[in-house]
Amino acid sequence: MNLADPKSLVEYAATLDCIHCGLCLRTCPTFQLTGNEASSPRGRIYLMRGVAEGEVAGDDPVYHEELEFCLVCRHCESVCPAGVRFGEMMEIARDRSAHTAKRPLLETLARRIGFDVVLPNRALMRLAMSLLGFAQRSGVLARVAPLFGARKDALLALPAVPPTSEREPLGLRSPARVLERGEVTVLEGCVMPELFGRVNRATVETLGAIGFTTRACGTHACCGALHAHNGELEGARSLAKTTIAAFDGVADQGGEPLPIIVNSAGCGAHMKEYGRLLADDPAWRERASAFSARVHDFSEFVAAHAPPDWKPSVDASDGARAFGRVAYDDPCHLCHGQQIRKQPRELLARVAGLECVELANAEQCCGSAGIYSMLRPADSNAVFEPKLAALDESRADTLVTANPGCQMQWQSGIERAGRNVRVVHLAELLAEASRAK
Ligand code: SF4
Ligand code: SF4
Repeated sequence: MNLADPKSLVEYAATLDCIHCGLCLRTCPTFQLTGNEASSPRGRIYLMRGVAEGEVAGDDPVYHEELEFCLVCRHCESVCPAGVRFGEMMEIARDRSAHTAKRPLLETLARRIGFDVVLPNRALMRLAMSLLGFAQRSGVLARVAPLFGARKDALLALPAVPPTSEREPLGLRSPARVLERGEVTVLEGCVMPELFGRVNRATVETLGAIGFTTRACGTHACCGALHAHNGELEGARSLAKTTIAAFDGVADQGGEPLPIIVNSAGCGAHMKEYGRLLADDPAWRERASAFSARVHDFSEFVAAHAPPDWKPSVDASDGARAFGRVAYDDPCHLCHGQQIRKQPRELLARVAGLECVELANAEQCCGSAGIYSMLRPADSNAVFEPKLAALDESRADTLVTANPGCQMQWQSGIERAGRNVRVVHLAELLAEASRAK
């Protein structure tokens, strides 16, 4: 990369794909908040093009603010008639902006510790979460949170870190609970085992209920999705290689690599793009593409492989098991990133005893967007407000999602608003519904 050449700061050729039709504007959450063209997909592409053509300085504060304000929800991609790959353009622009942006020293330090040290290391992530759990339980977090200014509420809204007993890694091999139909591997993730171990266990349980033995990758931690999303492409490439090597090492008895099941929409969308991410690396390009072809979202795999006689059900008369009216909210990286919309709904419709309702604007971003809710809590909350209104309108008792970040965002938003609505991952609902009565 030649930083003296402004065209190297963005994906210039892709900016020329935009035909300025404006169809993306009404879908964009940040444009809806501000009404400013610069905060729309078209406006951001215009800024990127301006940077490449030397009309906007590479360190222009408005340009950098718009790169950070974007949620990278990719809703604009779903409606774009020109096939603009906005998410990819943002990843590249954010990566290059790291060389031109002037970040405060503390923020730079926090990014280096988070992205380079903690996220890729399962043991350090565990330690970090243990410290967070201690700070939550002892009241230390409540005392120090005001030091973080505008990010105070986001820190306090973090879910309670579960006890150590609920943060155990998955077993390396979990046998099918019915006649075995095959083997798969599952991505445990970096944050998931610490905050949502129950979702990982529910994933394994549901896969077991439809006849799949699951294998886990032991110490593997992070797929690099948060890195790519936040403009840390070098780290993302390194973690992609680590991930490929870890999963390629888990094969069936014939030596064939196994399908990879992912219950986090953001991670799945990213892992399906490893072929593109490593396209310029001849040693990894083909292996990365082959890996991506084996990645399946949890709902995608279960909908395609559940046998006809699998009949999950919930008993509405049993209070502990009741879900009441259930609304599904599409995670952006599932619907816009992976084009998966009908499978989660088909699976919910298959559960006897559930009353499913549609949420208005279910494909609209909830404001979670990876670590966006931590970095820009006020904007994140503002993006969430219409989602809460849609939930109220639906009169749902349970909100179902398929992404840990969205699960946290819904949980904290619902608690903040004082609503009595349960939030679950699709895997949790299916595991509960497929449990023997
Ligand atoms: S990715 Fe989302 S927030 Fe960013 S420009 Fe597109 S629609 Fe707007
Ligand atoms: S919908 Fe696509 S082509 Fe139209 S303005 Fe938006 S990004 Fe450009």
